[in-house]
Amino acid sequence: MNADLVITNARLVDHSGEQFGAIAVADGRILAIGDPEAMPPSDRTIDAGGKVVMPGVLDPHCHLGVDYDYDEDMRTETAAAARGGVTTILLFARSMNGPYVPFYRERRARGEAASVIDFGFHFGIQREEHLDEIDDIVEHTGVQSFKCHMGYEPGNSIGINSSPDSWVFAAMQKAAKLPRGVVSVHCENTDLVGLLKKQMMATGREDLAAYTESRPVYVEEEAIARMIRFSDATGCPLYVVHTTAANGPRMAAEARMRGVDVTIETCPHYLTRTAYDDDLGPTARISPPLRDQEQLEGLWEGMLNGQVGTLGTDHVPFRKNGGPVWTEKPGVVSFAWELPLMLHFAVHERGMPLSRLSALNSANPAKRFGLFPQKGSLSVGSDADLVVVDLDREQAVEHPSGKGTCLYEGWKLRGWPVLTLSRGEVVFDAERPDAEPEYGRGRCVTIPDAERAERATV
Ligand SMILES: [Zn+2]
Repeated sequence: MNADLVITNARLVDHSGEQFGAIAVADGRILAIGDPEAMPPSDRTIDAGGKVVMPGVLDPHCHLGVDYDYDEDMRTETAAAARGGVTTILLFARSMNGPYVPFYRERRARGEAASVIDFGFHFGIQREEHLDEIDDIVEHTGVQSFKCHMGYEPGNSIGINSSPDSWVFAAMQKAAKLPRGVVSVHCENTDLVGLLKKQMMATGREDLAAYTESRPVYVEEEAIARMIRFSDATGCPLYVVHTTAANGPRMAAEARMRGVDVTIETCPHYLTRTAYDDDLGPTARISPPLRDQEQLEGLWEGMLNGQVGTLGTDHVPFRKNGGPVWTEKPGVVSFAWELPLMLHFAVHERGMPLSRLSALNSANPAKRFGLFPQKGSLSVGSDADLVVVDLDREQAVEHPSGKGTCLYEGWKLRGWPVLTLSRGEVVFDAERPDAEPEYGRGRCVTIPDAERAERATV
């Protein structure tokens, strides 16, 4: 079989280690890897010039179509993701109107008409009826990943319903029986957050740190401990999204020693920013909040020692109003900078091995959400979702579109993607930064089992 593309002279890195050599792609998948002499003949060759070639980033955590139009987000934000070396995104989707199966079909079709890269869904448990839909969702959408929110008070600005414990527990009971079942939880004690927010607002403070201090780290730690207990009791894998607490990774590691299947995700902003940074104001409101240097350093420990399992961006474009922190919508955008931030701060500054970064960014989220080894691995047969990284390229973060809040504008970072391939097709090339992306080529990866089996054999 001939290859469509061979990348030669490459430092090939994935979660399992690294080797120097070549990688061949045919029909969107990896055809061969390793010895350059053993590569099949190819129509096209790229000389990587010794640069790193890694699996594309699988970002398991984002929200699109929340404030801006969904179709527009699926174009602009997936194009930004491709620039950042991201080749698959998973959306935490939620709907209050009607059941999830028709919602899935509609969102999938619109996504496949707009997206530059592959994408998939987790569904939010937003009302009790959603629990009864789980069997239907599994059968007709293939989605086996559900999310429960906490920490959002009734009437919040983005319309999220927090789950009482009974919803989380019932979702876990159901998901525990599924082969790829997992429940993600936003861990913050909702009742305490409501009480402490009222107390803080009564002081008249409106600054970013007031918001942080109104949701102290123990409200998160307490909820993580409770969710680990639920996971233990139900046997359901637990995915703790956007962890800010340094104790989170430690608690999860201790639980895993007892056989509890719990994964800790954290986000680039909790590793690079604090609520006490001079240049940040109320627009840096995120849920859960930016913390302080002590929590930040503790999270890095978990990043380096293996206790943190995955990275997610929690990318969400919001229009901010520039008012007091209590009225800002929570969230920031990071698709285009997550990988450069990690190359700069994790690899260059803290000595993280590239294979560990690849595990955090690609293999681990792919495994957690049932997409491995189709995604997240440099293996024969895996999708040719690849990012070529120039470890020494220095470039400043730019956010000309201004869509959503960027916390890093002007930061000079070392280590940038220079070429991104999605299923063997170039979706970003740093030498042609203004090239129009090909919208509508992305495919949904959370699909019904029958379709999944069919796709695997093609
Ligand atoms: Zn989120």
